[in-house]
Amino acid sequence: MSVNVEADLRGRAKRVKRAIEAAAVRSGRRPEAVTLVAVSKTVGPELVREAAELGITHFGENRVQEAEAKIEGLKGQLPANVDWHLIGHLQSNKARKAARLFALIESVDTLDLAIALNRIAGESGSRLPILLEVNVGGEASKFGFSPEALEEVFPKILALSNLEVKGLMTVARAVSDAEQARPVFRELRRLRDRLKEAYPVADLRELSMGMTGDYPVAIEEGATLVRIGRALFGERTL
Ligand SMILES: *Cc1c(COP(=O)(O)O)cnc(C)c1O
Repeated sequence: MSVNVEADLRGRAKRVKRAIEAAAVRSGRRPEAVTLVAVSKTVGPELVREAAELGITHFGENRVQEAEAKIEGLKGQLPANVDWHLIGHLQSNKARKAARLFALIESVDTLDLAIALNRIAGESGSRLPILLEVNVGGEASKFGFSPEALEEVFPKILALSNLEVKGLMTVARAVSDAEQARPVFRELRRLRDRLKEAYPVADLRELSMGMTGDYPVAIEEGATLVRIGRALFGERTL
């Protein structure tokens, strides 16, 4: 690791942290209510280690295979409080591996996948924390439940007793002006609030929304998890 890359990461991490705090304060929220998930897809293990040394404790990966190699490679080299989130589409045939590797699967996007994960968690006698991904903007290219579909299947998912449904996740369309993403974030929060009202036993405390281009706006709209890649690690070249 060159000194420059390390210094860059340090500076970027500081700027992101400040921006998270500023957005929280601006919207009357406690900065601790927002958790940074550093999106380390395409980022090498060395840089992940540097980030962990700077105090980053949550890392997000979108592919099970890549995450597995990285997590194995970093075994014993990261502080014990570091954990990994899956933020990309999960195929059922990788569900078992994902359940083992990730502390939180943020991208559960079908009832079938939820059922598969519930079965797998049941075999090991553990409860698996998940988020439900919502395609708020209705984009054909994106995974996730439509808001209407989620309201319909939610009781079925809630009944899967080996899953802990911690909240909702969304990926907003890439826009030039972050303000344009605000309605998407607001809609996710309202959907969460409706579900919470209809099913008071549901946890649903987490709203994973906001990326490099739009996370301050997401925080203003209630994000508890922001998934940030480029603002920390630089532009992805792969
Ligand atoms: C890549 C990715 C991110 C991070 O995007 P950046 O623009 O690099 O911050 C967040 N969420 C998901 C689901 C991603 O795939």
